[in-house]
Amino acid sequence: MRRIAFAGFNLESVTAVPQVSTRADFERVTYRGAEIPAQFRGTNTVAGGTLKVLEAAGAEMVPLYHALLGALGPAADDAIIAFGDELEAGLTGNGPLDGLVLYLHGACWAPGFEDVERYVIERARAAAPDLPIAVPLDYHGNVDARTFAAADIAVAYRHSPHIDMGETGERATTALLRMIETGVKPGLAVARPGVVISSIMSATRLEPLSEIIAEARALEAASDCDISVMGGFAYADSPNTGMSVICLDWDGQPAAEAKAKALSDRLWQARADLTGAIPVWSMEAALEDAAAHRGTGRPIVLLEHADRMNDSTHLLRAMLEPAIAQRLGRVMVPFLLDPASAAAAHAAGAGAEITLELAGKSAPETGGPLPISARVLWTGEKRFTVSGRYQQGAPVDLGLTALIEVGAIRISVVSHFAFAVDGDPFYIFVEKPEDYDVILLRSKTHFRDFYEPLAESILVTDTPDLGPADVRLIPFAQLETAGVYPWCADGGA
Ligand SMILES: [Zn+2]
Repeated sequence: MRRIAFAGFNLESVTAVPQVSTRADFERVTYRGAEIPAQFRGTNTVAGGTLKVLEAAGAEMVPLYHALLGALGPAADDAIIAFGDELEAGLTGNGPLDGLVLYLHGACWAPGFEDVERYVIERARAAAPDLPIAVPLDYHGNVDARTFAAADIAVAYRHSPHIDMGETGERATTALLRMIETGVKPGLAVARPGVVISSIMSATRLEPLSEIIAEARALEAASDCDISVMGGFAYADSPNTGMSVICLDWDGQPAAEAKAKALSDRLWQARADLTGAIPVWSMEAALEDAAAHRGTGRPIVLLEHADRMNDSTHLLRAMLEPAIAQRLGRVMVPFLLDPASAAAAHAAGAGAEITLELAGKSAPETGGPLPISARVLWTGEKRFTVSGRYQQGAPVDLGLTALIEVGAIRISVVSHFAFAVDGDPFYIFVEKPEDYDVILLRSKTHFRDFYEPLAESILVTDTPDLGPADVRLIPFAQLETAGVYPWCADGGA
């Protein structure tokens, strides 16, 4: 029986966020050993997809660890090193192994590393010089050829929203088993067009991105390869920040290089349209539009996309202005991150009237804390299982949570960062999104799978925050922006 090790270490880092994700933060979400199949079997996750393929092939998963922290700030250097140490120990201390599935993000950033993922892969290679290594990763990874120099296989999500995490685990594991059984190492190439797009422009159904991705699918249908068109992640500052194309090709390295280059050229040609694929609203215009068009029976989604820590207060502050609030109707603000306010509401108890300095505490750019008087509707520990397609079946722990109300605006205040991208922020309080006029979300693309069919309109709203729509506002220190779009002269693309 083939024995395939599995390890996952996954964080999307905004370099400018002051809060560092520590070893303890990773530990809070880490599963080890038998916990991994127990938690992820049958889920739409990379670990779930990996298990599905291994079990169907009669192979054994040797589960090491799974730490998926989501999208936050930088990682602490010692957390990266500790998980690297644990990976090495896991690969040398678990008997003979036939392969490794190493699930990474691609845009984890830590101050002591030029490329965190490259470091982790190199640790695995150092521990197991001849072991086939497959790396499933996030579509928002910042990668180059050096990232995967010590790996054999790399494939990424094809969709943003990431509704295909399970399939990505399946693709990586299927390719790994093929390499093990045939002894053939596929070609693996990365091409970079020199284009940086904001997260909101990385939704894979937007044109012309969707057309270029369709060309990748056509190339796969015509030959024996697996292509990952990568959106990259503008807010992680590294030498390889930006879009890329990964090609895994069973026809060899020259074929992989040619296909990656061809699609990378297509991204460069489309650069102006990629960076401006959807309209971005000012706060004032978005609030006016939401007020003018409510009452259709379908909610309007306001997207405070530039918020990177789920605690920004720019839009909420504007919505609480009485003249605006009375025109917006019923408003829900899900999963606002503020452990201190959740604890204060819990101490006061349901039914209490309290004053809070709400959220806006992670960085000055968030808009700062918002002084409010609110009524507490519910408090307690909240855990649930994801019902939407993004990470379906995965466990979520919000920690101590409070549902509070200011006039017609309801806010769920949570203690752990969590994505509000589907119906769960409503269902967990026995509510429905359809019952609200306006919903304030902080997602970038993942909300689209659930909310595009549901919403009357989606207003992508820019605020002066850490994740601006115009990537030229990001203070890059590591990325050399000369020659990269949109810093370089357009050339009339
Ligand atoms: Zn992503």
